[in-house]
Amino acid sequence: MRGVVMHAPGDIRVEKREDPRIQLPTDAIIRLSASCICGSDLWPYRGVEAVKGPSPMGHEYVGVVQEVGSEVKNIKPGQFVIGSFFASDNTCVICRAGYQSSCIHRELVGGLGAQAEYLRVPLADGTLVTTPDTPSDDLIPSFLAASDVLGTGWFGAVAAEVGPGKTVAVVGDGAVGLLAVLAAKQLGAERIIAMSRHEPRQKLAAHYGATHIVTERGDEGVARIKELTDGLGAHSVIEAVGTQESMMQSIRSTRPGGHVGYVGVAHDVRLPGEELFFSHVHLHGGPAPVRRFLPELIALIWNRQIDPGKVFDLTLPLDQAAEGYQAMDERRAIKVLLNP
Ligand SMILES: [Zn+2]
Repeated sequence: MRGVVMHAPGDIRVEKREDPRIQLPTDAIIRLSASCICGSDLWPYRGVEAVKGPSPMGHEYVGVVQEVGSEVKNIKPGQFVIGSFFASDNTCVICRAGYQSSCIHRELVGGLGAQAEYLRVPLADGTLVTTPDTPSDDLIPSFLAASDVLGTGWFGAVAAEVGPGKTVAVVGDGAVGLLAVLAAKQLGAERIIAMSRHEPRQKLAAHYGATHIVTERGDEGVARIKELTDGLGAHSVIEAVGTQESMMQSIRSTRPGGHVGYVGVAHDVRLPGEELFFSHVHLHGGPAPVRRFLPELIALIWNRQIDPGKVFDLTLPLDQAAEGYQAMDERRAIKVLLNP
């Protein structure tokens, strides 16, 4: 099969890779209907994260089950399924508490390479969730978004305790930030402030329910949030970038007693203890337990109540993955869908 391999920062190739096979009786093999490039793939692409030799890329996936191992009970060949970036058993005590991305048996799907034609999914019964029937093609981008960016934005909103009557600020206008706006709207937020300086992204944020746009960032961004909230800060702030600046912008934009949900993968973030102590801000986040939310998100998409697939503003054949990485790196595209 063909699959995307990163050889070094900036060096993306589509190569012939070995077809995945069942290795454990709990595995499934799926034929991917679509895959995509994640904002987090840009960290190694830009050389911020080390690339340790040729690495198969991709951790967002939807597709049709081809084959299952002998111990797989719930998932059957022919079903359309969605999984997320950590495989999980969905039965251990951590999974049952809703933190499947910290499952005691978790396996990172990223290393298996979902930007390809086929994928081996470990712990298939726990990891994969089926749709009610085979979806029509126009729903596939939205289901693909549920695999990571929607689930991650949703967790950011839940971690930030978004709810009715609250003012929510979203730091970051990538796909996760935009879908955190969608999540905040679904969860009943009264006001949603999207922090973005890019017009196409501002438009999509408004489409998803943002009531205010703030273009300033850093200390000026914090000042604007305070202006909009009687000097107090937002009740809930979703951090969807992962840098020192975005994290501090999020904490400082939150009112005492408020909540930050941080879902941008942290890179060199250092928190000042004393400022944190006196802030009275709750911090919760981390790699989203997307599996927790998948049944609910699949139902919302199946019933066409939400359209998270709009974050894909560029679709390319898998063979042109390198162009897709470049477009996202240069922020010409919000998110790139790859057709196998
Ligand atoms: Zn588990």
